[in-house]
Amino acid sequence: MKPAPFTYHAPAGIAEAIALLGTLGDEARPLAGGQSLVPMMNLRLARPSAIVDLNGIGDLDYHRIETEGLVVGALCRHRDVELDGDVLARCAAVADAVPLIGHVGIRNRGTVVGSIAHADPAAEWPCLAVLLDAEIRVEGPHGARRIPATEFFRGAFATDLRPGELIVEVRFAWPPAGSGSAFVEVARRHGDFALAGAGAVVTLGLEGEVREARVALAGVGPVPIRAIAAEAALRGRRPDREACAAAAAAVAESLRPTDDVHAPAAYRRRLGGTLVRRALETAVSRAGRRPS
Ligand SMILES: Cc1cc2nc3c(=O)[nH]c(=O)nc-3n(C[C@H](O)[C@H](O)[C@H](O)COP(=O)(O)OP(=O)(O)OC[C@H]3O[C@@H](n4cnc5c(N)ncnc54)[C@H](O)[C@@H]3O)c2cc1C
Repeated sequence: MKPAPFTYHAPAGIAEAIALLGTLGDEARPLAGGQSLVPMMNLRLARPSAIVDLNGIGDLDYHRIETEGLVVGALCRHRDVELDGDVLARCAAVADAVPLIGHVGIRNRGTVVGSIAHADPAAEWPCLAVLLDAEIRVEGPHGARRIPATEFFRGAFATDLRPGELIVEVRFAWPPAGSGSAFVEVARRHGDFALAGAGAVVTLGLEGEVREARVALAGVGPVPIRAIAAEAALRGRRPDREACAAAAAAVAESLRPTDDVHAPAAYRRRLGGTLVRRALETAVSRAGRRPS
């Protein structure tokens, strides 16, 4: 279990990292927490010719709460978010999801941005990025770009990133005031990647009707899926069990997962619907209270 040969580079700043990625060619890869890249290199599933280690770039090591949302730099670890009570108090879906990522050791080292760049279809952060309308801020040899999360994920482990580009920051939008949110998943064992997961944000109007709903799923397709039909079906309705179940059934009907070694497609489709119903019911029960 040894990686193929590679050269190692440790830039001290963002500009230097981008310059290195630009000159080292398409086979160079940034290294953040190494919790996905290093195992893949050891198994020879990834054979980068060069590693550009981001860990010495202090300017990327931050997360902060802004009025509009949570901003995370490329070296923000899962655990930084998990241990920040102010973040958890502002978004229950994040509080639900982050402890489900691997184990503490993995969360201590792995980064939010690394997870988004890696784009595992079953991972929590990509799904949260779609749920919370995140914006991915990228810098590269040809300048900076801002990519909505809904356009960033192109396929399993495939993103809109171009050769030499680095994600410097991701901005997640807080749910609107008065919203409730939740994230639920099913994994075979604690710490395993989920078979499927679902997140929901529900915003209630003055009469208790659903003013806005947002639903996203992980593990039921090659990319995180936003369930737009279910969101539309809920809008204007009283968010009772019947409405949540109907929306979840519509989601299950629309899913097109494939069979794999972990579960048959039919199971995953049904699980997706069940998880959406649970996420919606929990989000509704939290709406109007803190955390959202
Ligand atoms: C046993 C185990 C269990 C796990 N369970 C889960 C789980 O349940 N849920 C889950 O979501 N994850 C899980 N993970 C993965 C973990 O969350 C990783 O932290 C995450 O997927 C990648 O983050 P990283 O910082 O380690 O990235 P790295 O491994 O350093 O990099 C991953 C990929 O992203 C690229 N990359 C990293 N940073 C950037 C950047 N700023 N710009 C552009 N590209 C970049 C790298 O080049 C590489 O291709 C698990 C890992 C292990 C080992």
